[in-house]
Parts: sequence; C-alpha cells; structure tokens
Amino acid sequence: MIDSFGREIVNLRISVTDRCNLRCSYCLPEETMTWLPRSEVLTFEEIERFVRVVAPLGIRKLRLTGGEPLLRRGLPDLVARLVQVPGIEDLGMTTNAVGLDRLAGPLRAAGLSRLNVSLDAVDREKYREMTRRDALESVLAGLDAAGHAGFAPIKVNAVIERDRNLDQVVPLARLAREHGFVLRFIEYMPIGRGDAWRDERVVANAEILRLLTAEVGVLDPVGEPDGAGPAQRWRWRDGAGEIGLIGSVTEPFCDHCNRIRLTAEGKLRTCLFSVVEHDVRALLRGGAGDAEIAELVTAAVAKKEPGHRIGRPDFVKPDRTMSSIGG
Ligand code: SAM
Repeated sequence: MIDSFGREIVNLRISVTDRCNLRCSYCLPEETMTWLPRSEVLTFEEIERFVRVVAPLGIRKLRLTGGEPLLRRGLPDLVARLVQVPGIEDLGMTTNAVGLDRLAGPLRAAGLSRLNVSLDAVDREKYREMTRRDALESVLAGLDAAGHAGFAPIKVNAVIERDRNLDQVVPLARLAREHGFVLRFIEYMPIGRGDAWRDERVVANAEILRLLTAEVGVLDPVGEPDGAGPAQRWRWRDGAGEIGLIGSVTEPFCDHCNRIRLTAEGKLRTCLFSVVEHDVRALLRGGAGDAEIAELVTAAVAKKEPGHRIGRPDFVKPDRTMSSIGG
C-alpha cells in the first residue's frame, strides 16, 4: 500500500484494550475512567481476521499496544494467532511492564519478538508521582523477567516533561547502560489529558543529548536509521550500548511514517493525530467480505494525512487520549 505521498504502509499498531492500570499524568485524568464495554472491544477472532485481510495488502509488522496490553486476558493466545498469519514478519508490544514478570515467558513462547517498555522515572517516588501508582518494583521485576525470557534488546521508552521528570534523564541512562536496554526518549506530544501540554514543557532531543553528554558520557551518531522506527540512534563511545531520540515534536518524521492504527473498538486511524476514523468493526460484525474490508483500508490509506500539524495555527488536538487510541 503506497499512500498519496509515496509512503509505503507496512506497519499496523493494534490496541487490544483501552484500559490501563496506570494514570500517567500527561495521558490520563486521575479520576475514574469510563472504559469501553467489553462487547465493543474487538475479539481475538476479529483482530486476527483483520490482520489476515491487511497482510496481503503489505502489512508486515504488527505492534500490540493499548491502554495496557497486558491487561487483556489471554494475550499470549492472540500473539500465537497473529505470528502465524502469512506475511507477518515481526510482532512487537509496547507495555508499561506492570505484571510482565508473569507474562514475559508465555509471550515470548507464543512468538512475541520485540518489547518496548515505557518508563519515565527510576526513582520510586517520582514514578508514583508520574503514574499515580506505586508500581516501580513490578516494572523492574518485569524488565528482569523479559531479559530472562530472551527479549533482546529491550527498548525502554521515556517521555520527559520539563517541570516533572527532567531529573530522571541521567538516572534512566545509567539504568539502561547497566542492564543493556536501548533507552529512547520520546518528545512529549499535545495529546491526552486536558490542556496540560505547553510548548515550553517539551524537552527537545538536542537538550537531552547535551545533558547526557555532560553528565554520563560521549555519544556518537549511528549512521544507519533504526530499521524498526523513527529514532535517531546514538552510541555511547565507551561501548555501553545505544540510545534513541524520537523527535515527534521538534523533528517530526511524518514524511517517513509507514503506520496505520486499529483502536480497541475497531476504528482505523491513519495518523496518531487523525480527526477522521474508519469503522472496521461495523464491517467485521456486519457480514462484510474480506474484499470490502480491504477496500476500506486502501481507501483510508490513500487519504493518509501528510503529517501532524503540531505548532501550526490549524493544529487540531485529537479528542482522544493516547491510551484510548493505542499509543
Ligand atoms: N500502556 C502501554 C505503555 O505504557 O507503554 C501502551 C500504551 S501507552 C499510551 C504508549 C506510550 O504512549 C507510552 O510510552 C506513553 O508514555 C506514551 N504517551 C502517552 N501520552 C503521551 C504524550 N502526550 N506524549 C508522548 N507520549 C505519550
């Protein structure tokens, strides 16, 4: 599938639930959330059918996300189904790793190949403040179990908000160096809870790089791009691994975006910042044939947005949080 800007779409992110067990301050409100009724969430059969329809169209890589994907009961079963779909070469998951200690082994055995763990603080109090849950210990146990289960390399993704966890950049880097994680900093985007986002709260990649160089060690650019994503790669000169910088706001990579997304309730989005969605579930549950579903996908891809418009006067913030879209 090639869109109207010449981008080849090979990547599908699948949200398996909108529910989350954390309340990251930049993502979700503190108060009780209203989750989708279970009947509205796609079943494993429906997800698998959709993947079987889009794989022949050129989708080769899948990533499970949410909400928190580990909350979806029977997740290894879904993994096992999806890795068997002809044409699917790679299946990853983005998770907060709470409870991963129990699931890392079964997920690996089912065929999950890549793991990205979201972690914005290594200080227990700071973690609790950021996520409104005292769960750091479980995350660290999850990371440990993931290593033992054979996931390598494990990517740790951090979002830095200037007035909240800028002081965690250096400790996160030290943790990653010690354990061999690829640490990636993802710029804070204007999506999610309320109107907390401000330009000045974004910590740009360039600033992170200066901080790490001054406090931790010299980093050299890695020539080739990350085959698996939009990160600019940097390697520690002393050989202690690498980091990635994802400049979603200050250095957008929309020109190379190769993704589409399926929300937990079966809406297809062609951009994280889409204001239009396409109702896949209505077709799946309405007796549509595979050709009709494929047509919806190719028509949506043909109209994929050129890019997000963050910082421009005509920027429209999606009215959904990242957790309900599938981050
Ligand atoms: N629960 C899983 C997790 O924590 O990785 C998957 C879903 S979560 C929405 C996916 C990613 O979105 C997390 O790494 C989170 O930090 C990121 N995210 C949420 N809101 C964001 C925002 N406003 N800017 C940048 N990243 C955001």
